[in-house]
Amino acid sequence: MENLTRPLCPSWCSVAHGDVESEPHQSAGFEVPVVHRDSSSRAIASVFVLVLSKKDGEPAFAYFGDGESAMLELGLDSARASLALIAAHLDLLEQ
Ligand SMILES: [Zn+2]
Repeated sequence: MENLTRPLCPSWCSVAHGDVESEPHQSAGFEVPVVHRDSSSRAIASVFVLVLSKKDGEPAFAYFGDGESAMLELGLDSARASLALIAAHLDLLEQ
């Protein structure tokens, strides 16, 4: 018999879950070409992917990285605050 109280996936989830209660919901990946510095301060051309994830009953996170050596995984409030700070300070370079 199907458990009718099992949480359903949010509309943005792209995972075909085997077990929705233990696996996080994840969005599709959104890619952007980037240039970033590696640990030796070399400029590296790469592709970063943004993926949103959330386990039922826990906070959501935004992953942004190359899947290998460069990544951030921030809570949503932290991601919003970081984006606002970056946007505000990038404008300083154009003054
Ligand atoms: Zn899901």
